[in-house]
Amino acid sequence: MKAPSSPATRLIHARPDSSGSTRVETVGPAIQKGSTVLISRAADVYDESRPTYGRMGLATHDALSAALCELEGANYVSLYPSGLAAMTAALTAVLKSGDDILVTDAIYKPTRRYCDEVLTRFGVSVRYHAPDLDAAGVLALAGPATRLIVLESPGSLTLEMQDAPGVARLARKRGILTLIDNTWAAGALFRPLAHGVDISVQSLTKYACGHSDILMGSAATARPDLAKALENGVRDFGWATTAEDAYGVLRGLRTLHARLTRQGENGLKIASWLQRHPKIARVLHPALPADPGHAIWRRDYSGAAGLFAVELTPCPSAAVDAFLDRLEIFGLGFSWGGFESLALPCDPQLKSRRLSDARKGPLIRLSIGLEDPDDLIADLDAALGVIP
Ligand SMILES: *Cc1c(COP(=O)(O)O)cnc(C)c1O
Repeated sequence: MKAPSSPATRLIHARPDSSGSTRVETVGPAIQKGSTVLISRAADVYDESRPTYGRMGLATHDALSAALCELEGANYVSLYPSGLAAMTAALTAVLKSGDDILVTDAIYKPTRRYCDEVLTRFGVSVRYHAPDLDAAGVLALAGPATRLIVLESPGSLTLEMQDAPGVARLARKRGILTLIDNTWAAGALFRPLAHGVDISVQSLTKYACGHSDILMGSAATARPDLAKALENGVRDFGWATTAEDAYGVLRGLRTLHARLTRQGENGLKIASWLQRHPKIARVLHPALPADPGHAIWRRDYSGAAGLFAVELTPCPSAAVDAFLDRLEIFGLGFSWGGFESLALPCDPQLKSRRLSDARKGPLIRLSIGLEDPDDLIADLDAALGVIP
């Protein structure tokens, strides 16, 4: 056919000549955007082994998934538009009506809400276990209907360490699946799949992205049957993420180890300083030798993240607000894992917990960024000074 002469048709089909060998290689992948995938032969239109539509991800997503497989030691990683979506999708992919799940009481609060409000409506029984229970104690709670144990280590806000390898070993013997929210370790400081955990979920929004400007999540597994279940879950629910976001997270991953190392060191320096401050009752940080979870952290983790919490000595809530408002370098906000330091008061979120909490003073979570730790210490020192 001769080239169409209509300007409208020519504009729509204008493309560079792809026959030559002038392809340019860049360090990052191409940002490939698309809903429609052009299929070269009619016989391939319904070939399910090839990408035929953009929703399941294209070249940029494939590049990110490959990097995450490397990070997690996984055969398969699925991507979701947020960390919460990764948790809810992974849960939904493996559960059915009549199943029972044992969830850590220190689970990320929106995940707890999904379990209590949604899973229960679909006939899943949801029970909680204490985040500082040992592996045998967790398994002692399991019954014949228990299908899955959900871990998060260290726990959200209160940072209890869980014996994930121990739980995974005992659970596997009884045919029970294990899933961990591994956002704190970012897939780098602790590799759950190598320790026998079946599914490793993380919010890529945090350390993987590292710049507080993208929401994304992942679920990783080394088991082919679970890979199929996760993949079907993405397909059936219609989850999709943008190529730009996949590109941004992949860029973040390239510097993940360097940022985590520095943020972990800065965090530990600040945590040690806080431990000696008279307005601090307790520092909740598994890398501190005095922490109840320290032995597990030392055994299983290759380093510390920059996220921990402090319990202030008991004081009125107005004093907590005055302390937070006095901080100049620390921002006040949810989320964490970015290059900038953040503080967050936690007490309202802890009200949903079922199990005992020996705390007397208010709990503040700190996410340590890449600023000079001495500047952050000076900021905390000045702000703690306003507490009577
Ligand atoms: C932030 C967070 C999530 C949810 O991630 P989003 O990307 O914000 O949806 C899940 N688990 C933990 C432990 C988190 O801190």
